[in-house]
Amino acid sequence: MTARILVVDDIPANVKLLEARLVAEYFDVLTAADGYEALAICEKQSVDLILLDIMMPGIDGFEVCERLKSNPRTAHIPVVMVTALDQPSDRVRGLKAGADDFLTKPVNDLQLMSRVKSLVRLKNVSDELRLRAETAHSFGLPVTDRPDEFGNVLLVDGRGSSQERMTRALKPVAEVTAMSDPQAALFEAAENSFDLVIVNSNFDDYDPLRLCSQLRSLERTRYIPILLVAEQGHEELVVRALDLGVTDYLMRPVDPNELVARSLTQIRRKHCNDQLRASVKQTIELAVTDGLTGLHNRRYLDNHLKLLIDRALARGRTLSICITDIDRFKTVNDTHGHDAGDEVLREFAHRVRATVRGADLACRFGGEEFVVVMPDTPADAAAAIAERLRTIVEGRPFPLPNSDMLLSITASLGIATLNPAGDTPEALLKRADMALYQAKNNGRNQVVAAAA
Ligand SMILES: [Mg+2]
Repeated sequence: MTARILVVDDIPANVKLLEARLVAEYFDVLTAADGYEALAICEKQSVDLILLDIMMPGIDGFEVCERLKSNPRTAHIPVVMVTALDQPSDRVRGLKAGADDFLTKPVNDLQLMSRVKSLVRLKNVSDELRLRAETAHSFGLPVTDRPDEFGNVLLVDGRGSSQERMTRALKPVAEVTAMSDPQAALFEAAENSFDLVIVNSNFDDYDPLRLCSQLRSLERTRYIPILLVAEQGHEELVVRALDLGVTDYLMRPVDPNELVARSLTQIRRKHCNDQLRASVKQTIELAVTDGLTGLHNRRYLDNHLKLLIDRALARGRTLSICITDIDRFKTVNDTHGHDAGDEVLREFAHRVRATVRGADLACRFGGEEFVVVMPDTPADAAAAIAERLRTIVEGRPFPLPNSDMLLSITASLGIATLNPAGDTPEALLKRADMALYQAKNNGRNQVVAAAA
């Protein structure tokens, strides 16, 4: 993982210390000695994370954070406030200013690296999401909503009193399911969809790392973030936990603000990841779907029809296709406008979908032309299905948008059936198209089957 980190502190020795540690982990480090310099750097350069001192001359860390978070150009940069020990009030003020996490001075290496890595991972996924949203926007595609900031948390904790305290602290950001039996919790995590599992290492006779490793090895729980709560001084346990794939940790006594900040980072990251996965799926669907009607598009038909034909020929089965075209569709657009035309296309597609059978493939071929591919269907059965579609189109007038008017619509249909001696998508489509042409010539609103 590489990232550009800005270290802001008015004491040069503090800057040097953090810089050396981060450079040793191959991070790219920028430094600033005060708030103004920090803001100027963020305006000009791309920064992935900021470690921000609070007490500084000029503008203090709280104000720097507020300014960063209120500027759309810098609002997405995670900010870690570096606070003095025993200053819970600083943490509350930091959160109000929009800080994402805290580190206490003197900064411990393990804490520094886990906070930095955790927030850089979140930034990576949320940057990717913002980029996809921009691309989607420039293509006129629907932009997915901002990820939800409220999550489902599974808390595995051996003690009732700390279950209660943590559930109360997390209330503003999460619905918490608390359990004290680790084995039952593993099943719960596998059965339900959680955004975060918090494992409190306070069991009398159970190794909490066993649960962490089981969560990491099960397919269904592999990607759920895990936050470990460890006893002060048990750094060895934390190091082993991070090696096992535990995402982040907290030390007891648990500061509620820290618990909320750290949980929120994981919940956000989980939601960003979920959205990214959904957007990949959506992109694939959009590539093969007609946006207006929701049917498959021509690109999909071109790819898939060849497979269906080859499979039918190889198995000695038949296959028919039907091309249908809405009669005098141009008049609909010319007389009632394109919105009305679009509505007719949508309703027509709806009737096509309602008429065809499960294994049939319905596509919008272009304009007002639709194709239905019917595997395992001989010519006479295909003609019956086409006739049913013709009747359903003619039988019920089409409603127009924002009007009580109904429009009578008819369609012409051409059918062609696979030549068992060998066939291609182009030849089959061509024969169906000739049959459609004949249906139009014969006076429209009818089904014509191509000669075998
Ligand atoms: Mg200072």
